[in-house]
Amino acid sequence: MLHPLLRRLPSIIHPLSTASVHRRRCAAMAGSPARYLTVATTRKASLKGVVFDMDGTLTVPVIDFPAMYRTVLGEDTYASLRSASPSGSIDILHHIETWAPAEQQRAYEIIAHFERQGLDRLQIMPGALELCRFLDSKKISFYRRGLITRNVDAAVDLFHQRFGIMFAPALSREFRPYKPDPAPLLHICSTWGVSPNEVMMIGDSLRDDVVCGRRAGAFTCLLDETGRYESPGCYTDEQKPDFKVSSLEEVLPLLEDYFNLVPASQTA
Ligand SMILES: [Mg+2]
Repeated sequence: MLHPLLRRLPSIIHPLSTASVHRRRCAAMAGSPARYLTVATTRKASLKGVVFDMDGTLTVPVIDFPAMYRTVLGEDTYASLRSASPSGSIDILHHIETWAPAEQQRAYEIIAHFERQGLDRLQIMPGALELCRFLDSKKISFYRRGLITRNVDAAVDLFHQRFGIMFAPALSREFRPYKPDPAPLLHICSTWGVSPNEVMMIGDSLRDDVVCGRRAGAFTCLLDETGRYESPGCYTDEQKPDFKVSSLEEVLPLLEDYFNLVPASQTA
């Protein structure tokens, strides 16, 4: 039988991810598989904070990543790395770290050039302001709204200034190690004084955001605007998100239906 919430929100929940949430919640409550649906439909998980990716999640994707990768890597290396990755994604920062210093310097300058071009065209993602206002209304505002990006500090500063919504902590790639390592998310949880399993990581990258969230033990929500992750073959075990949405507007009902949002004032 289809879960009632799945009937109500058919576009939001990924079938695999729904099971993942149920399993995790059952495990937390020491429930048996027989209690599976009962637990899922009668209990909500506590959520004390939300952490966002920036590029492609809070902002509209404006960086031409394929062009940037081609320029940094060269056409042949770019093509071979793409074909070696099941999802076609490339972890360019980790790749560059294996290079000689002079080559690294050249690569970072190219990346900085593309990122500056992106900043000139920066736009807020539809639904981001509304979602932040909703979190404000639940008092999960500045105190429990974090950001983790592989972009640079200057881009985060510009984002804060341009759109007037604040995230703290807001960690850029100057914080090492960066996503998909769980360290930045664990750092944010520690700063807030909350457990990772009371936090949700929202982002548009399976490889960076979902894996970071899962490794930290947080709930994960994948933003898949274009449907590029429709195929079950896209996901490795570590990349299966708890939720999948096609827009940030869909996050708000998801939070209301599946979670008790705990105001910052009620936590340590
Ligand atoms: Mg992103």
